[in-house]
Amino acid sequence: MSLSLFSSYRQRQLEALLEISRALTARLELPALLRTILSYAAEMISAEAGYVALVTPTKTLRLASGYGLPSRVFEALAPYLSEQKVDESFWSETELRQQLDIVLEASDKDLEQVVALPLILSGDEIVGGIFLFRSGSIAFSSGDRTLLRDFADQAAIAVRNARQVEQLREARARMEAIIDNSPNGVMILNPGLRVAAINRSLSRLVGMSPMDARGRPCHEVLDLDNTTGDHLCLGVGTPPPPTGIWYGEGDIVRPGHKRITVGVTYSPLFDRNGDLTNVIATVTDITRYREAEELKSTFVSVISHELKTPVSLIKGYASTLAREDAELSPEIVRESGRIIEEESDRLNELINNLLDASRIQAGALSLDIEDVSLRQLADSLLQRFRVQSPRHEFTLNMPAHLPLVRGDEKRLRQVLENLINNAIKYSPADGPVIVGAWAEADSVIVYVSDQGIGIPLDEQDSVFERFYRVDSSLHRDTQGVGLGLFLVRAIVEAHGGKVWLESQPNVGTTFFFSLLSSAG
Ligand code: ADP
Repeated sequence: MSLSLFSSYRQRQLEALLEISRALTARLELPALLRTILSYAAEMISAEAGYVALVTPTKTLRLASGYGLPSRVFEALAPYLSEQKVDESFWSETELRQQLDIVLEASDKDLEQVVALPLILSGDEIVGGIFLFRSGSIAFSSGDRTLLRDFADQAAIAVRNARQVEQLREARARMEAIIDNSPNGVMILNPGLRVAAINRSLSRLVGMSPMDARGRPCHEVLDLDNTTGDHLCLGVGTPPPPTGIWYGEGDIVRPGHKRITVGVTYSPLFDRNGDLTNVIATVTDITRYREAEELKSTFVSVISHELKTPVSLIKGYASTLAREDAELSPEIVRESGRIIEEESDRLNELINNLLDASRIQAGALSLDIEDVSLRQLADSLLQRFRVQSPRHEFTLNMPAHLPLVRGDEKRLRQVLENLINNAIKYSPADGPVIVGAWAEADSVIVYVSDQGIGIPLDEQDSVFERFYRVDSSLHRDTQGVGLGLFLVRAIVEAHGGKVWLESQPNVGTTFFFSLLSSAG
């Protein structure tokens, strides 16, 4: 080769390598990059055809890019390559000749020479090979090999970069999936406390789409009420405690939704220079803990109040009766005895209700199912209530042929008793109480109706909750612990039925429940 020819050849080679480095830095996808490398390499050493094969995770070879060969050649080569072990002998002349034979058989090219170089990463890891073929009798020279080395090195770098990009992409996708699927709300904030991203859980909690949240000041997304502790979004965060993490609690209140109490942990992230890069806020729904706490204190105050009244009455009357110096008329003795008996019944009922409530909570409410005549049951109950509460007017409104229902008679009596008791308790003006029923396709609907003080609309769903009592002076003046309707609902639902109510303050209340009829 003359000097000028050599220098223009060298020039072309440099240009090719420059082009490839450009492609490498421009982050061309791996297949496109390998195609570029292969075509320049082929041109540089006057090869007519070739391919790049990469080592797969199972240590066999897979064709990654081809040049100057019809696709049937790759189809013929693939099974051969997938069976090769990529060791020293793989690059031997004999092995390469075998590859050439397969190529020749599958193509109409008149190829005679083959050269191959492994793609080696630092650390001697072979990630694949570059294979080139040409016609004619002149074998590839050592110069050709040296030249090919540059291209092989570039290809190895491209493979390494592509792998790193892929690993990063996978790690990022994994991370995003973990954050997005976390049952806790996660909010990533930039140093200015604006939202960089929120996950699905938080989006559900605050009722705002992740897209909509992005870029907003964080107090707009995490708009908390009744905050305690550190609410970093409002800028009231104290300097980070020794743990480096702030913690605050507050309520999320969305129109038409239940109030949700959340605990928020803010963890700052710093870069190598100690500058704040992000704050990660983890938002946990702690409504159940708050409710449990409230329930515990309600339980203690209600129960202690409801236990104290009968106990002090019993004690008062009993100590009067026990006084040796007192001359008590027979009427007083009888009246004291009656009150002691009544208050003991109240205590007994309270204890039974508490036991039932805890049985229900433990899922241990068992039913003795048989055919029950609700008409008979209601009739006998009303006879008793008429004696007990003579000032109220009780009406039974059930057809004579009301179908029997499948149920536990004792428990159904408890349901009716509770509802009638409430109708009496919450009708201070002695209005009428109607107990009625009608049959539907395969069920019986029972109702207990009064013309008492009623229940405000916004509290109608809550009256079935444990220890819930409507907060008004009229309601408060009545004895009760808020367990009756909880038990009513649990018993009816255990029978497969439903309970609901219609009520208007100062007009009256009707409770309904459905039960499956025996015929159904
Ligand atoms: P309590 O022991 O307080 O009566 P319940 O669970 O039976 O408990 O009832 C829960 C609350 O629902 C009561 O405290 C009362 O405020 C309201 N309530 C129940 N029944 C009636 C009714 N018939 N009329 C008006 N308010 C009622």
